[in-house]
Amino acid sequence: MNILVVEDEVKLANAIKRALEIQTYAVTVAYDGQTGLDLAVSEELDLIILDLMLPKIDGLEICRMIRNQGIHTPVLILTAKGLVSDKINGLDTGADDYMVKPFSFEELFARIRALTRRPRHVINPVLTVEDLLLDPSKFTVSRNEIGISLSSKEFALLEYLMRNKGSILTKTQIIGHIWDYDADVLPNVVEVHIKHLRDKVDKPFEKPLIMTVRGFGYMIGAKE
Ligand code: CA
Repeated sequence: MNILVVEDEVKLANAIKRALEIQTYAVTVAYDGQTGLDLAVSEELDLIILDLMLPKIDGLEICRMIRNQGIHTPVLILTAKGLVSDKINGLDTGADDYMVKPFSFEELFARIRALTRRPRHVINPVLTVEDLLLDPSKFTVSRNEIGISLSSKEFALLEYLMRNKGSILTKTQIIGHIWDYDADVLPNVVEVHIKHLRDKVDKPFEKPLIMTVRGFGYMIGAKE
């Protein structure tokens, strides 16, 4: 079991490394974000333990970049940033778990066990609407074979629309599905995200796929 620890506090990084090695894990340490990112992309890893405040590239950015590259290695964020909004941000960016410092090693080990026993590669078929393709397992979207880069919320919104191809989704349904952590999301947030999505998925192409159904909501693809 190969674990990458990205942590710039040298003492803490080395303490984690020693503790994990006693648990018989193989551990690589990166003391800055750039090295961490390089290793996360190039090495075959079973888990990444990721600090957020790091020199060169911060942890959230690393998480976003590796997920954008279709790397699904489980990520456990280990940080002093303990606000609920920090946790939501971390998990929305693609992390699988979040622990706040100071932490107990026993809990860290338990979480590592939980994260590394999950199936690694869930089979998720590619979704299609005409020439628009979305691959849920690789986090990639393309249209007419041109790659499209989306934010995690835009991706989730498009995936939800495509999974319900030909059906109208109301703003309330969309909010409930995409923003289930937040209690007070306003309907115009959906409009804003739909607009961003259209700018990327529809505008550059001849045929718009995302339809507004006045008074009801949104739909992608022809009605079935
Ligand atoms: Ca740090």
